[in-house]
Amino acid sequence: MRADNGKIRQRLKQALHSVRFTVWIYFAIFITSILLLIWISFVVSLEATYRTQKTNDIKTIANYILTQWSAEGFTTDSLDRIAHDNDMCVLIQDRYGLTVYSYDVMAKNCLVHGFMNYDNLYKYRQLAYDSENAIYYAETANPRFDTNMLIFVMLIGTKEDPAGYLFLNTSLEPLDSTVSILRIQMLQVSLSMLILGFGISIFLSRLISTPITRITRSAEKLAQGDYNVKFNGRGYTETEKLADTLNYASNEITKIDTMRRDLMANISHDLRTPLTMVKAYAEMIRDLSGDDPQKREEHLGIIIEESDRLAALVNDIMDLTKLESGAAELNREVFCAGSRLREIMTRYTLLSERDGYKFYLSADEDVWVEADLIKFDQVIYNLINNAVNYSGEEKTVYIMQIVSPKTVEISVTDTGNGIDKELMPLIFDRYYRAEKHKREVIGTGLGLSIVKQIFIMHGIKFGVRSEDGVGSTFWFEMERKDPPAAPDGAKNSGS
Ligand code: ADP
Repeated sequence: MRADNGKIRQRLKQALHSVRFTVWIYFAIFITSILLLIWISFVVSLEATYRTQKTNDIKTIANYILTQWSAEGFTTDSLDRIAHDNDMCVLIQDRYGLTVYSYDVMAKNCLVHGFMNYDNLYKYRQLAYDSENAIYYAETANPRFDTNMLIFVMLIGTKEDPAGYLFLNTSLEPLDSTVSILRIQMLQVSLSMLILGFGISIFLSRLISTPITRITRSAEKLAQGDYNVKFNGRGYTETEKLADTLNYASNEITKIDTMRRDLMANISHDLRTPLTMVKAYAEMIRDLSGDDPQKREEHLGIIIEESDRLAALVNDIMDLTKLESGAAELNREVFCAGSRLREIMTRYTLLSERDGYKFYLSADEDVWVEADLIKFDQVIYNLINNAVNYSGEEKTVYIMQIVSPKTVEISVTDTGNGIDKELMPLIFDRYYRAEKHKREVIGTGLGLSIVKQIFIMHGIKFGVRSEDGVGSTFWFEMERKDPPAAPDGAKNSGS
């Protein structure tokens, strides 16, 4: 039960933290705040806006009435219309207080037409007369209906020679029915906006979260070991990029997985072949050739050869594992590249005398480079051995050192068949061996991977140029260094 509760709580927490919910909630908050703002401004400002509007209106109307009144061909009809349209009582008196024009919209319930208004009118006239610009206006309570009225009085003519007075009176209370209609309408609009807004927000949050959810689902599959899963981030640039990156990553994982399988298969195969040979020849010696010294020697030779091959393979595997895992350390030292190359070449004398290989070394200038000496040797041996193995009938290998002001390029060129263009990027891969070479040609298929790892560790630029039927050149470029101070320098020259 408790576990169930925990699970439910976790699910709830996840749901509340989801993109979909977050987007939805923000959007909902946004809509609600906008509606709230509209409502507040409606309630608060309706009143104030109405009041200012009315006050402004009344002044404009007063001026308009006066121009109408003093215009030629004036009829009361036009004044009636103004009064009616503006829901406003109008009264014009002459200088003696006699009514010249009157329009009553409030059935004698206003401040100017009421039965008890004689005093009022007198008072207002006086107030207008006394005021600076001969206008008086004020908000006054209408005692009969407990409502607010706006009274406006204006002297016609001049103070010295008054022609009469204009009285305007309008109710300041917005008409209740109008307001309630407005309220109902606002409520309706608000409700529909709220429903629409929430609907849109649900749709939007879904739209935004869908690609992410889709990618997450694929990622879960990938985590479970389904490397064929494809990521689809359609929707946004960001999710598309994410999906592309994940697709790339899953491709890489697939490659690594395939490589791991191949590696296991290759290692097993490579270990088994020499082991089978060793066993077969050992049995042969035991059963057949034990007494025949010549045959025995021959078979023992094969056993030793195969054991060597086995040892070389195990060494290569160990080397590569160490290099790739980063466990290998570099003992960098400055040495003379030319001397080192000359030294290495002495080891190939036997090969050239016995098997007729020709080696040409051109490294006359002494240039100094910095690297792990043992690994440098390993690289050169690997490249020369490959050149020997794949040099074809001509059996010629060129080792060259091309010196530039800042760098030195060292290259090993053979006169073999070359490497197919499309295979060139692959040959540095672990266990890659071009099909056209027979398996027993030599080598473990790990040599160039080891070379590549060593270059990468040193940060050395490297590459291969190859021409079909002409041969291949493996090159790398090292930075030149200042020679170390003598007498240590002499020792370090590699001789
Ligand atoms: P291997 O033990 O097979 O030589 P490497 O890693 O040294 O393994 O080389 C990988 C593959 O690259 C070789 O099997 C061969 O197909 C190709 N290769 C390497 N060096 C040369 C070369 N000098 N000429 C032609 N092909 C080469």
